[in-house]
Amino acid sequence: MHRLAQLDHAHVWHPFTQMRDWQRREPIIITSGQGAVLRDVHGRQYLDANSSIWTNLHGHQHPAINAAIGRQLKKISHSSALGLANEPASLLAAELVRTANPGRPPTPVPPDALSKVFFSDDGSTALEVALKLAYQFTRRTRGTKSKPRFLSLAGAYHGDTVGAVSLGHIDLFHKAYGGMLFKTDQVMAPYCYRCPFNRAKPERADAREYRKCDWECVGQVEARFRAQKQRGNPYAAFIFEPLLQGAAGMIAQPAGWLKRVTTLARESGALLIADEVMTGFGRVNSTSKIPGLKVPLFACQEESVAPDFLCLAKGLTGGYLPMAATLTTPRVFAAFLGEYEEFKTFFHGHSFTGNQLGASAALASLELLQRKATTVARRKLAQTLATELKSLWALPHVGDIRQVGLVAGIELVRNWRTREPFALREQAGIRVCEAMARRGVLTRPIGNVIVIMPPYCTTPAQLKQMVAALGEAIAEVFLAQLQ
Ligand code: PMP
Repeated sequence: MHRLAQLDHAHVWHPFTQMRDWQRREPIIITSGQGAVLRDVHGRQYLDANSSIWTNLHGHQHPAINAAIGRQLKKISHSSALGLANEPASLLAAELVRTANPGRPPTPVPPDALSKVFFSDDGSTALEVALKLAYQFTRRTRGTKSKPRFLSLAGAYHGDTVGAVSLGHIDLFHKAYGGMLFKTDQVMAPYCYRCPFNRAKPERADAREYRKCDWECVGQVEARFRAQKQRGNPYAAFIFEPLLQGAAGMIAQPAGWLKRVTTLARESGALLIADEVMTGFGRVNSTSKIPGLKVPLFACQEESVAPDFLCLAKGLTGGYLPMAATLTTPRVFAAFLGEYEEFKTFFHGHSFTGNQLGASAALASLELLQRKATTVARRKLAQTLATELKSLWALPHVGDIRQVGLVAGIELVRNWRTREPFALREQAGIRVCEAMARRGVLTRPIGNVIVIMPPYCTTPAQLKQMVAALGEAIAEVFLAQLQ
């Protein structure tokens, strides 16, 4: 076993990993990357089919991002945002505000524009910041006796810090911490493949017969907001991933759902917290047909939803460095203004808040994202992905294929007619991903859902290779069942 593997086995505890299984085999040790390709310590090459856990946008070793970080390195890597400002963080805040408010003139700033940026370190902290701000804002506007209550979606995942876990509703991850969490409510999220209302006749996707959708799932959301209002304590905030719920299993929302439920939330007086940690920075916009909006970068913009909080991380720096941002409005900001001794200050902050290297990478990434050529390339890549994925429908254990922009979730099932899932202990997703790795393609499953989320620089040939490896892996893993 390679010396680095021995050291890893001896000392590194990996996230979301059963370490007993991990220690049974030699890990892949990544030493370098270029574009969509990762290289390991033995010189083997792999395609990065989940963009290094959904973070990487433009590929590894992108010359423009490397150069931006290099330029900043020659000046300074980090100085504190507590008591000091810095150049790239100020420029980045302005650029994020510009891209989050498309079509809006910078002045005068409307009270509901996303014009204030609070930097932090990762997706979880971006959510913690939004939560704490929403909590205090509600107590300041509704009175200090009020008990702000939060509503999030069934299957929600918003990170692993305690506040973010409190918003989560994936039992496997979250139940163990029940005793240390604060109480939040959950409401039904759309999951069309397993819709309890419209599943008239389970069939292959291309021949499926649904009863007409009457937005029963939106009805559930409406009932939740109404019931909470009748209790005299309307929800303080509604937290959601727009267009696509990631860790829930890459579950795409039907067009119009987002607009409908956020309108209901607004009507009941709830703040909107949009978690675009996964969906942000063009990940789900490449098939966008919004007229007049040249380069929409955020999922909310697809349905003209204007949240009070926009949480960003992962792709913010192009996937280079841990950095996050929570954007909010002048209305929220104003609730934290006062004389020093009123102590309305937002008492929250991290050592690396506003880090210069991260901000420089983010500025370079945003510039790349907004180039016409990269926008066109993303759209083409999304079309290639859709074309390639079609071939997977022929496989008996593929139950559903969901694609939004440059994200796809392929749901494996024991029986496509009944949609019977594999039990988690069968590790269907894990086994398929291991078989893909043997074919030189790396990704990570979410239970029985295989994720294909290529970096934007992926070539059509590489994308074909990713999908082909998935098809072959499925065939290999389930060969015994097929015979
Ligand atoms: N929100 C969403 C939607 C996510 O997908 C994730 C991470 N997968 C997070 C929050 C947490 O981000 P991080 O892992 O950077 O803390």
